[in-house]
Amino acid sequence: MVLADLGRRINSAMSELTRSNVVDEKAVDNMLREVCSALLESDVNIKLVATLRNNIKKKINFKELGPNVNRRRIAQKAIFDELCALVDPHVDEKGDGGFKPRKDRCNVIMFVGLQGAGKTTSCTKLALWYHRRGFKVGLVCADTFRAGAFDQLKQNAIKAKIPYYGSYTETDPVVVAAEGVARFKQEKFNLIIVDTSGRHRQETELFAEMVQISQTVKPNQTIMVLDASIGQAAESQSKAFKESSDFGAIILTKMDGHAKGGGAISAVAATNTPIVFIGTGEHIHDIEPFTPEQFVSKLLG
Ligand code: GDP
Repeated sequence: MVLADLGRRINSAMSELTRSNVVDEKAVDNMLREVCSALLESDVNIKLVATLRNNIKKKINFKELGPNVNRRRIAQKAIFDELCALVDPHVDEKGDGGFKPRKDRCNVIMFVGLQGAGKTTSCTKLALWYHRRGFKVGLVCADTFRAGAFDQLKQNAIKAKIPYYGSYTETDPVVVAAEGVARFKQEKFNLIIVDTSGRHRQETELFAEMVQISQTVKPNQTIMVLDASIGQAAESQSKAFKESSDFGAIILTKMDGHAKGGGAISAVAATNTPIVFIGTGEHIHDIEPFTPEQFVSKLLG
C-alpha cells in the first residue's frame, strides 16, 4: 500500500471511532486492528506494529481514565504520538550523531547507498539547500566505478552553481576523495559533500571502499540514501550499511512516487538513525527537511 493510502486508511479508522456512539474498548480494538493492518500492508515491520499497538492500548486504558475525559481525543492523540515514535529514533541532534553542519567549522558529509537510490541527485540537492543558507559548499565525486558518474555530478553541480571536484583519469576513489576534500578545505569551504560509488548489491568490495574513504576524509557525518520504494528490503540493506559505514542520518528519496514507505520506516528503527531529509522529485529543489510530527501530520492530511 502506498503512503497516501496508508494515511487514508488510518484516517478512516479514526473517523469510524469518532462516529461511533460509544467509545469503548471494543471500538478502540476495531480501530487498532484497522490501523495495524494498514501499517503491515505498507511493509512496516511486524514487531514495530506490535509495539505501536501495545503502546496505544496502554495510553487508552479506559479502566484507569475517569468518566469525564474525552476518549476520542485521547485515542487520536495516542495514535498520532505513536506514529511519530515510529519514525523518530530519539537521537540527540546536538550529540555526536548530530547532523546539522555548523558555519564555524569545515563540515565533511559523506554519502553512501546502493546504485540508483538517488545518491548523486541528493548530494546536489543537499549542497544547494545549504548553499542557499549561506554555506560555502563543494561537491566531490569519489565514484570512479561507474562510467559517467563524474559527468552526472558535474552536470548537476553546474545546474546548481556549486563548485565540484572529480577526475576522469584517477581510478582510486580514495585518492579522489582525499584530493577533493583537501582542495576545498584549503579554499576555506565550510561544507564538503562527498559522493561515493553505489553498486547493485551489497558487495564486500563496496563496503571496504566505503570504510577506506571514510577513514581518509574523516566525515563529520555519513548519510545513507535510501529509496523509499524498495519495501522490506530497506531494513536489511540499511543494517548492512550501518555495520560498515556507521552512517548517522538517512535521506529517504522518491517520496513523491508510489512509495510504500513502510520499509524505510522500519529501517529507521532497525538502525536507530534519524531521517533528516526526504527527496520529493527529480529536480534539484525537490528536497524537504524531515521531522516526525510534520511527516505524520501530512500523512494523516
Ligand atoms: P545514485 O545511483 O544513487 O547516484 O542515483 P541517482 O542520483 O543517479 O538517481 C537515480 C534516479 O532516481 C535518477 O533518475 C534520479 O532522477 C531519480 N531520483 C533521485 N531522487 C529522486 C526523488 O526524490 N524523486 C524521484 N521521483 N526521483 C528521484
